[in-house]
Amino acid sequence: MTRKRRPPTKADAVRVSAIAARNTDRVQAVLNRAVLLATDGERDKRLAERRCRACYYIPKGAIVGHGFTRWGCIYCDHTDEHHNTGVPRCCDACSDELNLCVECGGTLDMTHRQQLRRHLRAKR
Ligand SMILES: [Zn+2]
Ligand SMILES: [Zn+2]
Repeated sequence: MTRKRRPPTKADAVRVSAIAARNTDRVQAVLNRAVLLATDGERDKRLAERRCRACYYIPKGAIVGHGFTRWGCIYCDHTDEHHNTGVPRCCDACSDELNLCVECGGTLDMTHRQQLRRHLRAKR
């Protein structure tokens, strides 16, 4: 089955321009974000939020539901409520003690776990 294409209208031209403008804005936004990621341009704000570069600068595109959600830290027995369904994985105390990202539970500086392993070995 073939589609019959109607001749383009002025409205089509306006739509094409609007889509192109939106795409230009999206590309520029990603490039701006990439520069921030590469330079860690919002380091102080990122560390104040206790998030690693990946979690802070790279949008996950996840759909977050509204409504308080119960969550538990993956490293200790701390449980809490979060204001939406995008719950943290690590509590503030574990983040402070072990330099972990609250969002993903990895290290804040995205280095490997030598420091954490030493810490856990010392706790035993
Ligand atoms: Zn914890
Ligand atoms: Zn993270």
